[in-house]
Amino acid sequence: MRFRTKLVVNLDKFASNLEKIKVIALQADPILMVKADGYGHGATALAQFAHHELGLNNFGLATLGEAIRLREDCPDAEFETYVFSDIQLKLKDHAETYLNNRLLPVLSNRADLKEVLTRPEYKHFPLCLKFNTGMNRLGFEVDEVGEIIDEVKKAGRRSIYHLMTHFACASLSMKTNPRNLLQQKNWQLVKNAFLSSGLDVERTSISNSGTIEQGYGVDETHIRPGLMLYGPSSLISSVKREGHYQGELISRLETYILSTFPVKRGTPVGYGAHPVSRDGLVVIIALGYGDGFSNYYRGGSLTQAGFRGEIIGRVNMDMTYLLFPIEAEKQLRAQMPFTVWGHDTADFERFCEEIETIPYEVFCHLTSRVPRFYEK
Ligand SMILES: *Cc1c(COP(=O)(O)O)cnc(C)c1O
Repeated sequence: MRFRTKLVVNLDKFASNLEKIKVIALQADPILMVKADGYGHGATALAQFAHHELGLNNFGLATLGEAIRLREDCPDAEFETYVFSDIQLKLKDHAETYLNNRLLPVLSNRADLKEVLTRPEYKHFPLCLKFNTGMNRLGFEVDEVGEIIDEVKKAGRRSIYHLMTHFACASLSMKTNPRNLLQQKNWQLVKNAFLSSGLDVERTSISNSGTIEQGYGVDETHIRPGLMLYGPSSLISSVKREGHYQGELISRLETYILSTFPVKRGTPVGYGAHPVSRDGLVVIIALGYGDGFSNYYRGGSLTQAGFRGEIIGRVNMDMTYLLFPIEAEKQLRAQMPFTVWGHDTADFERFCEEIETIPYEVFCHLTSRVPRFYEK
């Protein structure tokens, strides 16, 4: 475990992001996507805060193990917990696991649906059905909708608890992107088939962050925000204009400076003895790939005390080298704190673009060696 390197999560900023989401989606109830340990921010702490202090009652996890863990961490809390993938209803004792933990499996294939409709243990399971409207990942096919409705009715069921789909290109325009338009059309087909089937459809949802940011799908009963809860936008820069959301990064990744020294162009630094490309100040921070700060981040730059430092050489397991302009010498010294990312969402998004990855991945990379702290 690290001592001075930590991820500080600000719960007020989390609450304020949720307020901003509410402004876009006035009617829809959010299912907070806290899978992958709350995108690295700590699912339990965020869910407890959202439930107890903000009155939110729906949480989404990807795996069965994550969902069980959240339930165990919040034994008395009365909220809904969806499991979106990794369902495995066929495994023997799983019905009990779902029932005892009051988990909602999202069904996306005929085999699982058949289990739920035919096995007595699953008799009281609410039906959550996810359709593949064009993403081609998980989901029932659009042309199966008639058969599925028949099957559900034959099993004596009268209602669908939650009908949903997921967009493949939510970071692109919902108005003009052909894949998004196709998915919207297919969703209408699926939804209309259910609505005219005589089955009661209690809940519907189609939107993740990029979709919500564009104000799309917010007229369904639920929305499923993930990334936007944590601050960053999911939209590519050219679509950001169509976005209605300006979130604040809820976390700060804090570390400190282990050492600094001036270098001349060509001086070899660290493993592999990579020569630096220009004169400057090498700053070594206490964060490496053992903390989830990947070697692929080389070339990206971090802002500190008004200066930009480029990640150079190899990222080590325990430390990273940055090359700052020599003028930063007075402001950046050994033992001083160093904020890898702060609450400035735009600066974090710039970093992610530089290293050609998505904020989702940078968050999820952080390992358990970095302790998470919560502040208000
Ligand atoms: C992860 C996930 C979301 C949230 O996606 P973001 O892009 O992070 O908002 C919503 N729905 C489903 C089904 C998901 O798997």
